[in-house]
Amino acid sequence: MATPLGHALAGLAAGTAASGGRTILGPWQDLVFFTVVALLPDLDFIPGLLTGQNYHQGPSHSLLAALLVAILCGLWGRTRGHGWLLAWCGGVVCLSHLAVDYLTLDKLPPYGLPLLWPFSPEHMTAKHAIFLDVKRHSLTWAVIAHDLKAMAWELLLLGPLAALALWLRARRRAKG
Ligand SMILES: [Zn+2]
Repeated sequence: MATPLGHALAGLAAGTAASGGRTILGPWQDLVFFTVVALLPDLDFIPGLLTGQNYHQGPSHSLLAALLVAILCGLWGRTRGHGWLLAWCGGVVCLSHLAVDYLTLDKLPPYGLPLLWPFSPEHMTAKHAIFLDVKRHSLTWAVIAHDLKAMAWELLLLGPLAALALWLRARRRAKG
């Protein structure tokens, strides 16, 4: 898994690209929407905190879950007059989460993502990871330093993409 920073940056870039840079819900509301949807799959941490078992990188990291998120975004967006557009953007942002996790080094079982769940239990991960793994077993200085390095790497790779997307979005807004 990548850090929330990496997912948020990828989500901002993917959501802005999917929307063609246009404003849907509002100038900052769109950015909140993209960020929240980008972090949704990692809510599978919560049951584990309550039960002590690890449910992370389960069904919420599948293509079916991305489709479900798209449908839910569409249903929510219908009440705001942007059903199809929000479904499309929500689905693309959710896929950006899966893409970043797929490209992240995974040193904890289950290795990779169950992308084809429930049709296949296989967990898939890239042969050559781009992003560093996140350590979370103990809060030592070595672990904190490693995770800060992982965040810096994500910022370096995804920050320019997010910045470019937001710049193009701001330019489109300025043109009206
Ligand atoms: Zn994830």
